[in-house]
Amino acid sequence: MIPAPFEYAAPKTLEEALRLLERHGDEAKILAGGHSLLPLMKLRLARPRYIIDIGGLRGMSYIREENRHIAIGALTTHAEIESSDLLRARCPLLVETAAVIGDVQVRNRGTLGGNLAHADPAADFPAALLALDAEIVAASTAGARTIPVNDFFFDMLTTALRPGEILSHVRVTWLAPYTGTAYEKLHQPASRFAIVGVAARLTLGKDGKIEDAGVGITGLGPKAFRAEAVEEVLRGKRASDKIFTDAARYAAQGIEPLSDLHASADYRREMVSVYTRRALRRAFARAQGTA
Ligand SMILES: Cc1cc2nc3c(=O)[nH]c(=O)nc-3n(C[C@H](O)[C@H](O)[C@H](O)COP(=O)(O)OP(=O)(O)OC[C@H]3O[C@@H](n4cnc5c(N)ncnc54)[C@H](O)[C@@H]3O)c2cc1C
Repeated sequence: MIPAPFEYAAPKTLEEALRLLERHGDEAKILAGGHSLLPLMKLRLARPRYIIDIGGLRGMSYIREENRHIAIGALTTHAEIESSDLLRARCPLLVETAAVIGDVQVRNRGTLGGNLAHADPAADFPAALLALDAEIVAASTAGARTIPVNDFFFDMLTTALRPGEILSHVRVTWLAPYTGTAYEKLHQPASRFAIVGVAARLTLGKDGKIEDAGVGITGLGPKAFRAEAVEEVLRGKRASDKIFTDAARYAAQGIEPLSDLHASADYRREMVSVYTRRALRRAFARAQGTA
């Protein structure tokens, strides 16, 4: 349980961190909260020669309004998201999601950027950000680029981040009027990671029909994904238990569910449908203002 030897740097600015990352390339790893990287290093599944610890860059920890967006710095902890009044008012889905991650210690140390960059197939924020159509901003010495979250998760533990890039912040748009959101997860009792997790966003039109829907799913397959087949069934329909049940049947469409010691593929397929229905019902009640 002792990591292989490594050199350690604690840069004072993001620019300095980016220069170090560029210089050391593949041999370097960014350290944020350390909750995923350090266990991998202790098990020697990761053996970086250089650790670039960005944990002290307080300028990367913030939640603020920018034109009808909310920007959240990569080093913002899950606990800070859970207790943000701004997010509670403008984007409660992230507050709800943060509150069910791990335990208090995990939420106090784990960062939003680390959660996304690590791309654990059972992590919670990916589902919420997919449902919200968020954008991820990556910085490098060449400048910044914006990645739609739908293009960010490539595979298990693999993202669209390129060598030399650091995830700097995430942007979410304010919710439209008559929008409700909800996150429902079946958690693994020890770690609280998702066996399946479903984030739903429903916007109702003036005629009471579902004008827009966003559904993000985690835990089911090797990466979190947007459940477009579910969304398609919902759009333009009048909300009802029946339509939610019908749409939820498509939650696993096109996905080969994971099977492991926590849950078989069949169980995950069954549960994702149940949790999708629950998330849709709750999002609808909130959109109506009745939840
Ligand atoms: C016991 C336990 C239970 C947990 N339960 C849950 C759960 O229920 N739900 C859940 O979603 N998560 C859970 N987690 C994960 C945790 O919430 C963290 O989000 C996660 O460990 C990664 O965040 P971190 O800041 O610790 O990243 P680190 O461990 O520091 O880094 C993880 C990876 O991301 C890279 N990285 C970090 N920040 C950046 C950045 N800004 N730009 C580019 N690359 C970066 C690192 O190089 C590394 O490869 C759990 C973790 C533990 C230990």
